[in-house]
Amino acid sequence: MKRTPLIAGNWKMNNSAKEGLRLVEELIVPLSTLNDVESLICPPFTSLMPISAILDGSPIKLGAQNLHWEVKGAYTGEISPSMIKELCDYVILGHSERREMFGDDDLAVNRKMLAALEVGLTPILCFGESLKENEAGRAAEILTRQIRAAMNSVEISNSSQLVLAYEPIWAIGTGRAATAEDIDVLLRTVVRPVLSGIVGEQIAQEIRILYGGSVKADNAKSYFNMAEIDGALIGGASLKADSFVGIAQAART
Ligand code: PEP
Repeated sequence: MKRTPLIAGNWKMNNSAKEGLRLVEELIVPLSTLNDVESLICPPFTSLMPISAILDGSPIKLGAQNLHWEVKGAYTGEISPSMIKELCDYVILGHSERREMFGDDDLAVNRKMLAALEVGLTPILCFGESLKENEAGRAAEILTRQIRAAMNSVEISNSSQLVLAYEPIWAIGTGRAATAEDIDVLLRTVVRPVLSGIVGEQIAQEIRILYGGSVKADNAKSYFNMAEIDGALIGGASLKADSFVGIAQAART
């Protein structure tokens, strides 16, 4: 099954609006010329408006790092799905940093998934086990629980409505990446079958599943060579133009 690779940069809480604009100016030409790879930038909220303006007309996609599930109202400090949709195509949901530090449990992730899909945003649903869970041989169980819970009552009629991102927590920002072969096996034997049980075999085969965790320009190719890995969600290495472009180039088929 041929799936267009997606290279997504999660800037987290890095880059002021000015710094972000400078970085995007460096990315526009090299990323726009990669026809067979889709690239996506997920900056902080304060950068979404100015970056959406300079990305206008470019093939580079814009995404947010979070949203609130309510449509509007007295939710101080929150941003609604339709506010994000005005500027973005994608939204990262269920990232382990939000699960660990900001109380995004399975129920909250599910509410956010439903709210994002309702306004036509494509969620990048993140899931992954901790080091302890991995060492206890519980990766498959944890991934299955997280995906099923996040997808509760979710209806997908088209594979472009959803992206999955497997991010073992022990590999995020640690420099300790999971091996490409191990990830490929987990995606083929656990993640895609679980997804298939929810959205059906055909759509599950078409949905892109990314890997995230210490992906760099010099190890990216080993992941993209794997049949089940359809791109990457990148933290640290998305903050420099040359490393992010290097990863996107490695995804060319
Ligand atoms: C992430 O934050 O999703 C991530 C994968 O980070 P890093 O690439 O820095 O490990």
